[in-house]
Amino acid sequence: MEPDRPLVPSRRRFLSAALVGLSQKSGRAVTGSFVLESHEAGHRLRDRAFAAMPAREQRVPLVIVGGGIAGLCAAWRLRRRGFRDFVVLEMEDRAGGNARWGENEISQYPWAAHYVPVPGPGPSLARELFEELGLFEDGEPSERHLCFSPQERLFLQGRWQEGLEPAGTPKDIDQYKRFSDRMADFRANGAFRIPAGDSLRLGELDRLSMRDWLLREGFDSSYLQWYCDYSCRDDYGCSSADASAWAGIHYFAAREDHDPGPFTWPEGNGWLVKRLLERVGTHVRTGATVCQAAREKNRWRIVTKEIAYVSDAVIFAAPTFLAPFLIEDMPAPQAFEYSPWVTANLTLDRLPRERGVPLAWDNVIFNSPSLGYVVATHQSLASRIERSVWTYYWALADGEPAARRRDLLASGWNRWKEAILDDLTRAHPDIRECVSRIDILRLGHAMIRPSVGFLTSQARRKFTAYEADNFWFANSDLSGISIFEEAQYRGVTAADRALARISK
Ligand SMILES: Cc1cc2nc3c(=O)[nH]c(=O)nc-3n(C[C@H](O)[C@H](O)[C@H](O)COP(=O)(O)OP(=O)(O)OC[C@H]3O[C@@H](n4cnc5c(N)ncnc54)[C@H](O)[C@@H]3O)c2cc1C
Repeated sequence: MEPDRPLVPSRRRFLSAALVGLSQKSGRAVTGSFVLESHEAGHRLRDRAFAAMPAREQRVPLVIVGGGIAGLCAAWRLRRRGFRDFVVLEMEDRAGGNARWGENEISQYPWAAHYVPVPGPGPSLARELFEELGLFEDGEPSERHLCFSPQERLFLQGRWQEGLEPAGTPKDIDQYKRFSDRMADFRANGAFRIPAGDSLRLGELDRLSMRDWLLREGFDSSYLQWYCDYSCRDDYGCSSADASAWAGIHYFAAREDHDPGPFTWPEGNGWLVKRLLERVGTHVRTGATVCQAAREKNRWRIVTKEIAYVSDAVIFAAPTFLAPFLIEDMPAPQAFEYSPWVTANLTLDRLPRERGVPLAWDNVIFNSPSLGYVVATHQSLASRIERSVWTYYWALADGEPAARRRDLLASGWNRWKEAILDDLTRAHPDIRECVSRIDILRLGHAMIRPSVGFLTSQARRKFTAYEADNFWFANSDLSGISIFEEAQYRGVTAADRALARISK
């Protein structure tokens, strides 16, 4: 595997990469491994190779498949509405899906999802849940859970600068201003909402890429183009040339103009998973891989290794692409494409020396193929931090997702470790002297990709509107936009639909 190339390769960069190769000899030994690997189980599901002969049968009116945010929020909604006759089946040893977390002697840390913007003052599902979890005090977001300052910085031209927009020439600044005004107009228009819903206004923006929209509108500043590309890779795991303009604009226009947040925690959205589990954990069965869901007369038989659950209804909150492998005659979700990602948690025995503004929560390197890193100890109240854990993010955004998935699996831990350290060395020349451990998570189908045309496609509509046989899809991939609020919305909507049917 060759790690992704920088967006603008240059002779200087080539030289510095060669020097990086030399400098690694002076680094210390780094331990670590791949963690939470699930592709083998995934491939066995794909190949229908699970030999499940469950010894027991259990009758339960409603089964939720998948204990990520969507499945847990479906469970939260059912409990809130007084319904308790259900189980959540989760294949991993821990619930949470993309909001899982880990812990070492220094800190807790996220494995993927790490923040949620503060929901606006109007009624919303996220606001309802966050009020219940104590994230608001007297209507205001609780300081303890808001991201501390400094929030973001960018490594550009040999120094860290404040914020993520590259400080540019007057022409760049003029284009930032014009872009920001366009986003304000889109915001005022109200077409870009969270949750986004199923029938989009301004759907014509889904028919071209974000990159083509920028060019069409005369946004030719390379800094602005980089910033929009970074945003697409960050939220969607794909480049601005592949993301639909509707999704690219949604990133900027769907949120409140002045977010006082975001909300974040050392363990990222794992904090929300823990709070949800306090409420619905008694329903969750972990290590329960569903390998078959079969319709038998007017019931469902949901098969795991040990137990076959016989239910009246099913909420399918596992990724939608898995459904045809588990359910006979289920059509394949054709247009659903998923972005592969690598995330890593780096244990630092000391912090590297700095050039420019100090360490922030979110730290991004200009023109890097990665998305940079967030600092797990950032929310610590300790007056001095010497050791830390950094969570590093790399979306394999370029090229065909299937080919990138093959790259992802073909390269060993050592190769990925070197690629990560090389990338960080651009901004932190002494990083190899600071890091003692790197654990790496490979996510082949990490998140849905809002490719051009997907959000307005019939293929998506077919699965969001699916109602047959008391079976509802609920994963956030139905939204085409992989964020907490969409997962919650999909879970809650499926729970409401299921209750409407079951209680008849
Ligand atoms: C690297 C990365 C960073 C992210 N960062 C953020 C962020 O900062 N903020 C944010 O809001 N969102 C972020 N997201 C998006 C994140 O995907 C959503 O916020 C949300 O967590 C998705 O939840 P979900 O339940 O829809 O899907 P998933 O998290 O994918 O949950 C699906 C669950 O189904 C289980 N499952 C699968 N197959 C089976 C089976 N056969 N039987 C039983 N169980 C099964 C899985 O193990 C998993 O637990 C990020 C995503 C990634 C990949």
